[in-house]
Formats: sequence, C-alpha cells, structure tokens
Amino acid sequence: MLMNIEQQKKAVILLTIDALRADHLKSYGYHRNTAPYIEKFAEKGSIFLNTITNGPESPTAFSSLFTSILPLLDGGFSPLPPEKITLPQLLKENRINTYAIHSNPNLGKYFNFNRGFDVFLDGERYKKQSTNSLKHQLIVYIKKIFDYNNLSNKLMYRLKGFNRLKTWLRKKMPFLTDILLPFTPISYNAPYVVNKLISFLETCQKPIFFWAHFMDVHSPYNPPMRNVLNFREKDFNISERKFLVEKVYPKANEIEITPKMINDLKTLYDAEINFVDEYLAVFLETVKRKIQNNCLIIITADHGESFYEHGLFGHQGSIYDEVLKIPLIIVELGKKSIKKEVKDTIQLIDIAPTILEYFGIEIPENFQGLSLLSMTRGESIKRNGFIISECYQKSGLMKRNQEDGFILLAIRNQGWKYIFDEENDKEFLFNLKLDPQENKNLINENTEKLPEFRAIKRYHIKKITESYEEKLKITKSIDKFKLDSLK
Ligand SMILES: [Zn+2]
Repeated sequence: MLMNIEQQKKAVILLTIDALRADHLKSYGYHRNTAPYIEKFAEKGSIFLNTITNGPESPTAFSSLFTSILPLLDGGFSPLPPEKITLPQLLKENRINTYAIHSNPNLGKYFNFNRGFDVFLDGERYKKQSTNSLKHQLIVYIKKIFDYNNLSNKLMYRLKGFNRLKTWLRKKMPFLTDILLPFTPISYNAPYVVNKLISFLETCQKPIFFWAHFMDVHSPYNPPMRNVLNFREKDFNISERKFLVEKVYPKANEIEITPKMINDLKTLYDAEINFVDEYLAVFLETVKRKIQNNCLIIITADHGESFYEHGLFGHQGSIYDEVLKIPLIIVELGKKSIKKEVKDTIQLIDIAPTILEYFGIEIPENFQGLSLLSMTRGESIKRNGFIISECYQKSGLMKRNQEDGFILLAIRNQGWKYIFDEENDKEFLFNLKLDPQENKNLINENTEKLPEFRAIKRYHIKKITESYEEKLKITKSIDKFKLDSLK
C-alpha cells in the first residue's frame, strides 16, 4: 500500500507511565502539582478527565491498548495470542517505522509484545534462555554466593544515602548522574529511556510511531531527594524508606496501617511522578524542536495504584476506580489549539483506533474501541456504551492465559458500576455519582439497574469461554518458562 504525502510526514509518540493514577495529577483534582511540565504541556491539547483502563495490570492494559480488544477475549492477553493483531503490526504493514523502549518484564518479547516493532528495547534481561544451560546455572550459583538480590537492594539504598555527594553531582551533571544511579534495580529509569529516545530522534525518519514506557512511578518507590523535597520539608532517611517500601506496602494485611504510613507512601509516589515529569520535559522540549508539527503526542498510563482505599496497596487484582481511572492527554504539535477538557467517559481500547485514524489507516472491524481524534478537535461523540474492565486472577494475583484463575470484571454505565468477582461468587453495585469511593454496595438495594448489567456480564463471559478452547490451542506451543518468576 502506498502512502500519501500527508501520511509520510506524520509521527505519533505514545508515552505511558506505569501505575499513574489520574487523581494524582493537578488537572484531575489533586492538591499537589506533581507534574508541572505535563500540566503546562496539556494546555495546548485535550485532557480526557474520565479515562478508564480495560485491565488493572500492565499485560491486561497493554493488550487492550495495542489490540483494541478486551483482554480476556480472543485468546487472552499474556502471552498475546498471534491471532490478536496489534497496532504496531498494522502500522508496519502501512510502512510506518515503529520504535519501542520499556523495561516492564511483563511486556517483553517473550509475551509477544514486540510484534510489529522495528526496534524493541525491552531490557534484554527478559529474553528467553534455557534454565538448564551451564551459563545460566553458573549465574544463579554466583548470584547465590554473593546474595546478589540483597546486595543490589542494599546498594540501591546506600546510593540513596549519599545525598550530599549526589546533590553535588546532580548540580554538575544532572542527566548523567540520574542514569548512573538507577532508582529501581530492575528497570530502565526515566533518564535512560529519555536518553535513548533523544538519540533515536536524531536518526529516525517519518512516518514514525514511538512508544516509550516509564517504570519509575511503579513500586518500589525510591525517588531522588530533590523530588521528595518538593512535597515535604525533609527527605525520608534510608530506614524510613525501607520501612515504607518493604514493610508497609507489601504487607498491608499483616500490620496495622496508619494514615501517616499511607501519606508517606503517597509522598514517595508523588515524588516519582515529579521525577518522571522532569524527564518528560527534557524529551518533549527536544521533540518540539526537532519535529515541530504533524506529530500527535499521547500521554497516559496502563492503570492506577491503590493506597489502601480498599485494604491494599498496588494494583494487581483490583478493579476499584483508584486502579481503573487513568490520565489521558493528547496534544497535536503544530496545531493552534486551546486546552480542552473532555468529560465523556472513554477507555484505553480507544487509543489504537485514534492512532490509526491519525495516520489515515483503516480501523479494523474487530476493534472494539472508537477513535478519539474528533474529540481532540472539539467534537463530542455520543457514547452510551458499557465499559468493561477485567482481569484474570487468583487471590489477588494476576494469572496468565493458560493458568488456573478466576474472572474479575467491572462494567460501568451512566454513573453506575457493577463488579463481578467469580472467585468469591460476589457482586457489587455502586452509584459512582453519590459514592465515588465505592464504599456502599447497593447490590441488594437497587434492583432496577441489575438485570442489564447481569445480562452483559453473562454475554461477555460466554464470549470469553467460547474462545477458551481456541486459547489453549494458541498457547500450547508456548512453554511456561519463566512465567512464574516474572510475576
Ligand atoms: Zn503496569
């Protein structure tokens, strides 16, 4: 297929921030300005105030984002079944250059999330290797002797402790220091991602689609001092940080959680957002200089994060709104535009059709989402559908296609939200307008809304089950290597 001149000039940059909940940004009503650059940047574009993720973990969410199909349908979400055609594949077919950088182990090549990308930097550590190989055994043995995991954690905290040295170094060479002192030991950090993106910008050719994913806001939170000081008079010391990240966050059901613990964890989280914001500023200012126009920039998240609103921290296996509500900001460079606040409820599966429409590529019929492009241009589209968010889990832990698990789903429509928990055979109904915190279950009190929600649930689960046989066929060929260790 030949591209027209307009298509050839275009670029789309998709920036996703792992675990960034919408209501920790000022535009979404937060009391702190955690991301001043993003706020300023958004003034030239559209802010979608009610964006819902279709899955509460990275794999369910990105499966939705890249395929525009709900995660549990058509063979599941992890590994991504070959039958589910991805956005980058469609772009590739249309001769658009595709580039990705991220370091989320759940979104690696092994789970097929690289499909359609020309360049796919995913940290390589997650590439498939035989657990029986001598080299692998040797590495495991050496790591054991030196107690590697413990050592690297200790080192991470020690490096955090060199505050005076770090402050001095940062002043002298901020960019380099942040790269040299990673904040989460398993991930590329924002400076690394941005550095790679900028060097790629130098050589890239339009039309191009970039996807960059930032892990910094994901736990374990360990932001630099300077970002903590934006929200607190004093930085947390090493033992305070360790206590919050290692004792409080993962053990919410073992210890008594106090409001102070929750607030301190939120401060660390907010400081991580602030840290990513600094580097998005570096990157987007470079983009503005180099690309200037015909460029769509999308900033969003895969899911949010709980701060004990419903008795847990994190996001896996939760479909309350602290996890489902995510930010979405779309800015088109080179277009004179004023800030638009879009209040319509939209969903993550709408992003792929938006990008396809921007490039002038036909949207496949099986895509369940709808393009948001006309909304960014001020038109409102009537959407009265039911929005489904779902996951596959057991006791709050994500399960993959082939594993034993239970469906947990939420269906929302016109201010109401219905939850079905297959594992505990429970239903919930919330009136989000009166009870946005989802505290009062009206399942036995409001019977008017229920039949419709239940009918949709039954129909949807039937569709999932019908594709189950197919799902086994698809995933049988993929061995279970490392599946467990990657969780
Ligand atoms: Zn995630």
